[in-house]
Amino acid sequence: MPPILELRNLVKHFPGQQAVRSISLSIPRGAFFSLLGPSGCGKTTTLRLIAGFEQPTSGDVLLNGEPVNHHPPYERNVSTVFQNYALFPHLTARANIEFGLKRHRVPEIERRVREAVALVGLTGKEERRPAQLSGGERQRVALARSLVLQPDVLLLDEPLAALDPKLRKQMRLELKALQRQAGITFLLVTHDQEEALSMSDQLAVMNEGLIEQTGTPEDVYLRPRTRFVAGFLGAVNWIAGAAIRPECLTVSREAPGLTATVTATVFLGDCVQILLRLSTGETAVAQLPRAAVRFQAGETVHVSWNPADELSLP
Ligand code: ATP
Repeated sequence: MPPILELRNLVKHFPGQQAVRSISLSIPRGAFFSLLGPSGCGKTTTLRLIAGFEQPTSGDVLLNGEPVNHHPPYERNVSTVFQNYALFPHLTARANIEFGLKRHRVPEIERRVREAVALVGLTGKEERRPAQLSGGERQRVALARSLVLQPDVLLLDEPLAALDPKLRKQMRLELKALQRQAGITFLLVTHDQEEALSMSDQLAVMNEGLIEQTGTPEDVYLRPRTRFVAGFLGAVNWIAGAAIRPECLTVSREAPGLTATVTATVFLGDCVQILLRLSTGETAVAQLPRAAVRFQAGETVHVSWNPADELSLP
């Protein structure tokens, strides 16, 4: 069976701007896949090319093995959840959810809407209009409205960006569970690395219109292939030519280890960061469990790590 979605050498130029320089991707059926990258790297443009809102300069979009470049958006079996949800403010949650079904004249609208409402946990709130729902609930309406169409691929553009930080974290788990339950392929676009790491089966890290690395969250975090990927997914210390993540450093009052001075400690609730100046002149950050030994600014300490934790970067 072909992958549910494939991008082959996809390119999109705008006047004076190469938004997508050349992207090739293969997204397996039923996967939760994320496109992760900084603002302006071409994520949204890629999503719009898949949905058919933009035409590629060159290259192909294939759905179920079929090129769809020349199909308008409504002839592609994909659905998009936009960052601002784009709900109709004058319609109830139910009317928003069934809108697409009515337009497509599909059978069993009532049952399908009921199931979608239950799937996103909105039962009992069907008759409310968007203004009478919380941000998280509006988000669920937007999800249900897309899921009810049973698309081959659900495209999600920064779907959690409008929510407050606590709700965002909770919705990550819910979104992942929802994807599993619905059995629909999700392609999510985000600039938030924690979001991509926590939800995805696979992710592609984008930079300046190109994909730098594709893999599982563990692959890209533990075995980044470029400096950009390593730095985008988390902090990296460069010590004596070696690249080491802050959580892999050990700080001790006893030798052995590189001699360093503690310049500051930062309490982060679930962990503590120790800012260090090494005797080589380099600076580094160590991230330690909160229960670890307390260090004071100005102390002399020794910094070490397991060579197996060094990232091998070009
Ligand atoms: P963000 O996370 O900020 O939404 P992004 O990675 O989704 O960023 P895109 O929206 O795909 O980035 O934009 C990629 C580049 O293409 C940007 O430099 C943007 O200014 C440019 N761009 C996007 N759409 C157009 C357009 N219609 N005309 C001209 N340039 C555009």
